[in-house]
Amino acid sequence: MKLQIAIDGPAGSGKSTVAKRIAHELHLTYLDTGAMYRCATLVSLQKGTKEPSALINFLTENPISFQNTRADQRVFIGLNDVSAAIRTPEVAAAVSEISALPEIRDFMTAEQRRIAADSSIIMDGRDIGTVVLPDADLKIFLSADVHERAERRHKENIEKGIPSALAEIERTIAARDLYDSTRAIAPLKKAPDAIEYDTTGKTIDEVVAFIEEKIKSLS
Ligand code: C5P
Repeated sequence: MKLQIAIDGPAGSGKSTVAKRIAHELHLTYLDTGAMYRCATLVSLQKGTKEPSALINFLTENPISFQNTRADQRVFIGLNDVSAAIRTPEVAAAVSEISALPEIRDFMTAEQRRIAADSSIIMDGRDIGTVVLPDADLKIFLSADVHERAERRHKENIEKGIPSALAEIERTIAARDLYDSTRAIAPLKKAPDAIEYDTTGKTIDEVVAFIEEKIKSLS
């Protein structure tokens, strides 16, 4: 039987770090849906258009794909490795507007469901438990204090060699959360049947252990 695990939460709540770890440890496919919206945003910035059909046509001809290594996940648009390009402050500042476009959401949601149909999966995002996989076996909603979330993103950027300013990150994260949680379609929201877990002051190991315990108790 295929397992579906949905991890939602605001920017920097630790979703992708813990989902990646759990995927590796429990042999699940990992899908970072935020990276997909970042890809659409990168194309928008590069082509100078917010026209959904132009973005969708481009991404149909040059599909988004992922390559997982033990330590890392690389993201591609067509043959281009965009792993670093989708993490810039410019993309972070523009992504909420692009991801609020209904046609873009429909396109990404269909793709995400197609990928989920193929294998047992752990997917992280904003609307996984509410829209993409409403029948997921387990739904987790991760939250954390905004200052701590900004600090985590800042540290992550520095480790990856991406230029980073803490105050700017905190401002962008807060603005993004507000935009993402108040948009009309598929807003960032805890599903009624999701388990909420506040990761403020928690280590990655603690969050991973909490979720893995829940996954193990499913069977
Ligand atoms: O997770 P990450 O911070 O990389 O997500 C980037 C942006 O993509 C979010 O701020 C949100 O606007 C959008 N997103 C979304 N739905 C998802 C995942 C991400 O709208 N399922």
